[in-house]
Amino acid sequence: MKTDMDRKLRDFVGAKTAKQFTDVLNIETVGDLLRHYPRRYLKKGELTPFNELEIGDQATVNGRVKKVTVRSLDTKAEIPLVEVSKWSRRKTLTKVVVTDGEHDLELAFFNQPWLATKLTPGTSALFWGEVTMFRDIMQLKGPGTEILDDEDLTEAEIERRARPFRPLYSATAKLPTATIERSVKIVLDNLSEELEDPVPELIRRKEKLLGLVEALQKVHLPDTEKDISEAQNRFRFEEALVMQTILAQRRAVTDALKAVPRPRTAGGLLDEFDKRLPFSLTAGQSEVGDEIFADLERAHPMHRLLQGEVGSGKTVVALRAMLSVVDNGGQAVLLAPTEVLATQHHKTLQKMLGDLALQGMLGGADHATKVGLLTGSLNAAGRRTAMLDAASGAAGIVVGTHALLEDKVQFADLGLVVVDEQHRFGVEQRAALSAKSGENTPHVLVMTATPIPRTVAMTVFGDLSVSTLTELPAGRSPIQSSVVPAKQKPEWLDRAWARVREEVGKGHQAYVVCPRIGDDVKNATDEEGDLAAGDEEGDGKKQARPPISVMQVAEALGEILSDLRVEILHGRLPAEEKDAVMTRFAAGEVDVLIATTVIEVGVDVPNASTMVIMDADRFGISQLHQLRGRVGRGKVPGLCLLVTDLWDGSKSYGRLAAVASTTDGFELSRIDLETRREGDVLGVAQSGKRSSLKLLSVLRDEEIIFTARHVAQSLISVDAELAEYPALRSFVQSALESEQTEYLEKT
Ligand code: ADP
Ligand code: MG
Repeated sequence: MKTDMDRKLRDFVGAKTAKQFTDVLNIETVGDLLRHYPRRYLKKGELTPFNELEIGDQATVNGRVKKVTVRSLDTKAEIPLVEVSKWSRRKTLTKVVVTDGEHDLELAFFNQPWLATKLTPGTSALFWGEVTMFRDIMQLKGPGTEILDDEDLTEAEIERRARPFRPLYSATAKLPTATIERSVKIVLDNLSEELEDPVPELIRRKEKLLGLVEALQKVHLPDTEKDISEAQNRFRFEEALVMQTILAQRRAVTDALKAVPRPRTAGGLLDEFDKRLPFSLTAGQSEVGDEIFADLERAHPMHRLLQGEVGSGKTVVALRAMLSVVDNGGQAVLLAPTEVLATQHHKTLQKMLGDLALQGMLGGADHATKVGLLTGSLNAAGRRTAMLDAASGAAGIVVGTHALLEDKVQFADLGLVVVDEQHRFGVEQRAALSAKSGENTPHVLVMTATPIPRTVAMTVFGDLSVSTLTELPAGRSPIQSSVVPAKQKPEWLDRAWARVREEVGKGHQAYVVCPRIGDDVKNATDEEGDLAAGDEEGDGKKQARPPISVMQVAEALGEILSDLRVEILHGRLPAEEKDAVMTRFAAGEVDVLIATTVIEVGVDVPNASTMVIMDADRFGISQLHQLRGRVGRGKVPGLCLLVTDLWDGSKSYGRLAAVASTTDGFELSRIDLETRREGDVLGVAQSGKRSSLKLLSVLRDEEIIFTARHVAQSLISVDAELAEYPALRSFVQSALESEQTEYLEKT
């Protein structure tokens, strides 16, 4: 059914403007335009005095033009005013000096030479844009303009300017905010009162939300602050409702999936394992264990997220769940994000299980099983054995990287998939899994050390149950962290290396982590992924030099620590070499390991006491916390030194100080999230495409999301197809079609 919202914009604003809307903002229909909400509002009189402008502000000023010059950007020659009309298609820079009577401000306009004929000296106008500094002169760059003392204003224009709030839209030079405002006004004046509202009336009444038409009027042309907040509130709810409806539908589908129940059985591997554990489980570990066993008993697949501080002992929890499934005749898979970690997990599990993992071998225990390893870099023979063991069921547990899922690996009876150190395990992966286990879907346990705020868990992982391990096992040694300002205090860096030597002297080991590999080949992206984020969170200054590399540090330490056994590890070494280095390090045959973030997650060498992180400001908060979790894992107290060239009150230095001041991962995660943008939180690529979350913030709007979740759940439980709510259904449909729901799907 066609509503006004589906009508083409060009029917209202003319072909030329409509084309600009399409080109610049990807807006085609009336609905697209009306849902391009103002970014903010300019309250009349809300002007910034020139002497209060600050670099980086979005400011609006009222000034009188003092001087105008237009130059060619190619020749730098000044263009006489009478000739500017000939320059409309060429590269120009128009500089306008305006004054508020006391101070001057420079405005820089690119490729709009005609402005010079409008902004003649003496003209009074409003200008808005970002305050920047160029060659020590404060500027507004490419600001929006509105001449105030224009003589021949149209009636509509006079009315528009009389409004108490001016909506300011995301706009460009080609499509200025005033044009958007005018177009919105035309469309709103012609809007049918009978628009179908995606938020059902009953719910609107209950939640006291504005109807669609009224909300659209008020969000674009508000008369009061209250208009703005009521309208925005309604659209936030609408966004939350659409999102939660998608998730509720998805939950309904998941709930309908079948899984083989794997109830806990007595007298099997699990009991035997528990009996032999060299330590007692923490309270959290046994509670979470029970939650998992309860899930595994059901005939529907478990889908649980286990979040727990670095070193909180998630592996044991996972292993116990896996053993329980094996006791039931099923198989379990443990997926790790890297080969280094998969290999290490394989060894750890074998070690923990001892003769319980020696099935069919001399000295193997009764009902012993086998732990297989399947990574991309196995040779053909190893691969064949591992595949056979998986397919025959000989291997009760198979450890591997994610490639394992894409592979043609078959299982005799896959009952449980554990995903380590990753909190995104999307619909696609689950689909791949189901394909491996026939009409039954395996149970899934996802583990992460990165705490996720509740609303994000609810949004991104809408159909996940969450368990949390908050305590660390008793007897864990504290980690002491300090920032080392290497440039300001080079003697501190010397001291850091001396500390490394002392620790090695005591029989301990050390990591030195660098942000880059540095053998002049383009860097491996999997190791550098988070770095970009770390950079961006910085202070926006140009980084003076490339980040320090493993190779550079190896060269330097080759001299400073020439008497120690120093080795390197990074993602581009051949798999066998990585494995060999890690094995030597774990065996204590290497004193100092210089590595990239390949060691970031999961690596567990209790004898490693010290970590020096070079150019620590190039890493994000949670990454530093993860890295630091590699030390202080045994009885040896941990030491983490965050080396940086920074030394000031900058935001980046502040982040390092925060990491040094606390080892509480949840606290750090909160600090981290506060400095991130919404899109980063959700993992949405900042593609510049229209987002289906425009006003809703998963960090701020917790309450709205909770309510919407509740509403969506009850709608779906009585009317899964939304037959009664066609408007909501079509919204959900288009949200699903838009790429922006990627964050709901992707790994
Ligand atoms: P993470 O949660 O970071 O994955 P691990 O599972 O690697 O942590 O556990 C870290 C270390 O703590 C391992 O060496 C593990 O054997 C040990 N550990 C786990 N649970 C306990 C416990 N209850 N008591 C003592 N040590 C434990
Ligand atoms: Mg782990």
